[in-house]
Amino acid sequence: EEKLKRISESIRAFPDFPTKGILFRDICPILKDPKSLAAVIDLFEEYVRQNHQDVGMIVGLDARGFLFGPLLAQRLGIGFALVRKRGKLPGPTVSVAYDLEYGKAEAEIQEDAVAPGQKVVLIDDLLATGGTLNAACELMKKQQAHVLGCLVVVEMKDLNGADKLKPHTVFSLVQY
Ligand code: IMP
Repeated sequence: EEKLKRISESIRAFPDFPTKGILFRDICPILKDPKSLAAVIDLFEEYVRQNHQDVGMIVGLDARGFLFGPLLAQRLGIGFALVRKRGKLPGPTVSVAYDLEYGKAEAEIQEDAVAPGQKVVLIDDLLATGGTLNAACELMKKQQAHVLGCLVVVEMKDLNGADKLKPHTVFSLVQY
């Protein structure tokens, strides 16, 4: 499809970033091209309207989930909540520790960001090992929110992140 072509043409690869042996997929050119960014949000909106009609909140992951999540939430007429790296959010929070493709981290959310029983869709720029989105799913579980599914622009298929997230589903626009 034309939109997918435009999106994939807006993703660059940088070898050995942030460390040797990692081929880093850079989505910044998507944001530089308004048609490409609109295509991303169009396709996410279409998918969510078809598959998760009862979604009540979009939850975005630090930091590039914040670039797409609020735009999608606005399109859907619902709210957006932030999952951040530890220590960035004021007030009462809950956190979960997890492993990254390159390093360790802790994900944190404000205690009142999502309500118990709320139906949420998670969003990030890229799925690699699934550690990050999995931590966000655990945070949602702690808060008794219900994860309907996960959205990413890019999925690194070889790393089997989608398996780690089961039974939650992953919808991706571009796969490598
Ligand atoms: P995971 O936890 O291993 O699935 O890694 C996904 C997280 O790391 C996401 O928040 C991504 O933004 C980031 N990440 C990992 N690899 C890349 C990459 O090649 N390009 C951009 N972000 C990446």
